[in-house]
Amino acid sequence: MATNETISTFIPPVRTLMGPGPSDVHPRILNAMGRPTIGHLDPMFVAMMDEVKGLLQYAFQTKNELTIPVSAPGSAGMETCFVNLVEPGDTVIVCQNGVFGGRMKENVERLGATAVMVQDEWGQPVDPNKLEEALKAHPEASTVAFVHAETSTGAQSDAETLCRIAHTHDCLVIVDAVTSLGGTPVKVDEWGIDAIYSGTQKCLSCTPGLSPVSFSTAAVARIKARKHPVQSWFLDLNLVMGYWGEGAKRAYHHTAPVNALYGLHEALVILQEEGLENAWVRHQNTHLALRAGFEAMGLSFVVPEAARLPQLNAVTVPEGVDEAAVRGRLLNEFNLEIGAGLGALAGKVWRVGLMGHACNAKNVLFCLGALDAVLSDMGAPITRGAAVPAAQVLIV
Ligand SMILES: *Cc1c(COP(=O)(O)O)cnc(C)c1O
Repeated sequence: MATNETISTFIPPVRTLMGPGPSDVHPRILNAMGRPTIGHLDPMFVAMMDEVKGLLQYAFQTKNELTIPVSAPGSAGMETCFVNLVEPGDTVIVCQNGVFGGRMKENVERLGATAVMVQDEWGQPVDPNKLEEALKAHPEASTVAFVHAETSTGAQSDAETLCRIAHTHDCLVIVDAVTSLGGTPVKVDEWGIDAIYSGTQKCLSCTPGLSPVSFSTAAVARIKARKHPVQSWFLDLNLVMGYWGEGAKRAYHHTAPVNALYGLHEALVILQEEGLENAWVRHQNTHLALRAGFEAMGLSFVVPEAARLPQLNAVTVPEGVDEAAVRGRLLNEFNLEIGAGLGALAGKVWRVGLMGHACNAKNVLFCLGALDAVLSDMGAPITRGAAVPAAQVLIV
């Protein structure tokens, strides 16, 4: 048996993170996180918390007062939305086109509510007509939930249309924007999203562990009018609002992850400096260069062009190639991480992320060059040496 005596300081390798998250963290953010810890009720820290709220309102494009980071990862943001808005006996329409819609179903059922599933094929966006039919068949439904950017497949759904349909049937809408926020347009107020959650480690280029959320006035009214107490004490927004809310009473609820919030603050300052629209354009243009490279190599995309996420590229593994061995070589020989397929797509695709700070020309050329080298060496049926030149012409 190994003994702990051999254990010393952990020094992680320097990797390039082009998987489904976490993505490369901006050095300015890592720097911010190394600053001195202060008390979470220190007036200087409380002032910074207010700035984080304002910056998150910008990122989400909302005036919602209840816009805060939950002190836990994206999955806790998901859970925050469901535990607060859903009560036992409710009916929730859950649209599923990948892994994360399945987790929404789990959340609904564990709350003693009924999940009515609207299923679409993995790789396709959610079909608004199917949502409409489900709402007609279930007039008792009070909530609609869907994933805006399905990280398991790289498909983006039309959030604006889905929200409009849900509201026509008097439902509130819960949206997963973990992978979309900061990478593609997310317009909470314009689209009428009632509850939304995201994560810090995808297109915000921050470390994992926080989940920005935002709730509309209609959502807050429902939370305040609940018949049953919220099942989770930690995620009960009635309590969290006393900590993050206006008026700076700042009743102690939990100890905020102080240094993680320095990091999120810096990530949001960086986003504001670049400008949301510019960030969206950068993701799209960089994706087009990566796409040109993949296609020149002979790999094809899983998602139809109109629904393709620029920040998550799911491409097919060439015939006869051991996809895990390729990822292993990229990691060991090039310090490059790309993602595997999940669920129905396991073993069939790679998921290549271009998220936030990692979404740049250097990473596109590096990834294509490294993948070309490894696949060529393994004798895979690809067009060798074509990927980098195809991407290059779109970069310079
Ligand atoms: C990553 C992700 C999550 C979960 O976030 P964690 O921070 O890993 O808990 C949820 N939904 C989507 C779409 C994601 O990509």
